[in-house]
Amino acid sequence: MTTNAFEGVQRRVEEIGRHIGLPRGLIDVFMSPRRELRVTFPVRLDDDTFRVFEGYRVHHNTALGPCKGGIRYYPGLTLDEVRALAALMTWKCALTSLPFGGAEGGVPCNPKEMSDGELERMTRRYVSEIGILLGPKEDIIAPDIYTDERVMGWAMDTYSMNVGVTVPEIVTGKPPGLGPPLGRGDAAAHGLMPVVQQALKDRGMQVRGCTAAIQGFGKVGFGVADLLQKNGCKIVAISDSGGGVLDPSGLDVRQLKKFKEANATVKGYPQASDLPRDDIIGVDCDILIPAALMNAIHEGNVGSVKAKVVAEAANGPVTYEADKALEDAGVLVLPDILCNVGGVTVSYFEWVQDLQHLIWRAPDVKRRVRQVTLGAYRATREMAKEEEVSFRSAAYIISLRYLAGAYQQRGIFP
Ligand code: NAD
Repeated sequence: MTTNAFEGVQRRVEEIGRHIGLPRGLIDVFMSPRRELRVTFPVRLDDDTFRVFEGYRVHHNTALGPCKGGIRYYPGLTLDEVRALAALMTWKCALTSLPFGGAEGGVPCNPKEMSDGELERMTRRYVSEIGILLGPKEDIIAPDIYTDERVMGWAMDTYSMNVGVTVPEIVTGKPPGLGPPLGRGDAAAHGLMPVVQQALKDRGMQVRGCTAAIQGFGKVGFGVADLLQKNGCKIVAISDSGGGVLDPSGLDVRQLKKFKEANATVKGYPQASDLPRDDIIGVDCDILIPAALMNAIHEGNVGSVKAKVVAEAANGPVTYEADKALEDAGVLVLPDILCNVGGVTVSYFEWVQDLQHLIWRAPDVKRRVRQVTLGAYRATREMAKEEEVSFRSAAYIISLRYLAGAYQQRGIFP
């Protein structure tokens, strides 16, 4: 059983690399993160004691441009998970021809148990520690699990103070006033929508009238739920780390968000029945949207999936083995590197605007992100047909070929 997310990504790269006849050496390059930094650093806690934290930053590949990737704060975070996320970012950018390489970083910690002051001090020290890798042309950071606009504001300020000049382009997903108008959670949602809409259309279905269950009700989970509901989809179940809720007649997503803001979880929402947290995977619905952690759908629960379509808003939510089982069962899996590419696409637009000191309007950003993600969907669909493979394999074929082309043109130094 594959429990290690990095191993899962590696197996896919190996498999697809061989399928398209890449030289062994190039497959090995694609499987090897270019740089990895592990740091330890002390943070002063509110009771005036110190705690030593560990942090990571991984650059998976830099052939296409500067590294780009999130920062994740999560208790169970491992270096292997960070490597997997960095690699996924490389393949995502290659799929859409964005001029970025993949990176990821983070700190194993539980932000829910930290005060605002502790979180800020930890963020500032972590960003300073990984500063030797950062730069607007080297490595640009973004939010991920349990990091938000506020954390991005501190990160931007820390980097800027350390270099003595304000550098907005070092961070994307900045808070309003520091960044462009479309938030990152919305960004991923606006990228996912056209992919899901077109995929359903291709199967003779449509979003209006469909039912969906969503695992995770954070930046991405809420953004996706809200947008799907606005487009006529009935959201029958939602879960977060504290539990789940179910209402076959449809949840009111915005009301549920207000409840979560007041109670820190969706569990206990009075207008719906409680659902055991992990039962979300087996909810009877048309579209299942994992928007939380890695390996959420695995060998142990894949048999319970009833959805016809699994749209991976999260990164790496389906294990290698569960992916094969879903394929065998005829479930359409819209893979992470396609489905949530809206996040990095809007980040790219934010970076471009910052570099040029321009401000685009939100509708322009939405139109452009739709163009990019729909283009990626169509290319993936055609490749899947041509090669008679799953959407995930098709997306990897496009990505690996694109990056292989860059190596062919650049050559290997020296
Ligand atoms: P977030 O921290 O805003 O939200 C995470 C959500 O997951 C929270 O609601 C949390 O309660 C929930 N959760 C945690 N453990 C859970 C569990 N065991 N069961 C159910 N829910 C659980 O994070 P986010 O930014 O929304 O990211 C979610 C996923 O989307 C991640 O995989 C991330 O890599 C991916 N993603 C994020 C972005 C972005 O811009 N933030 C872009 C693309 C992809």
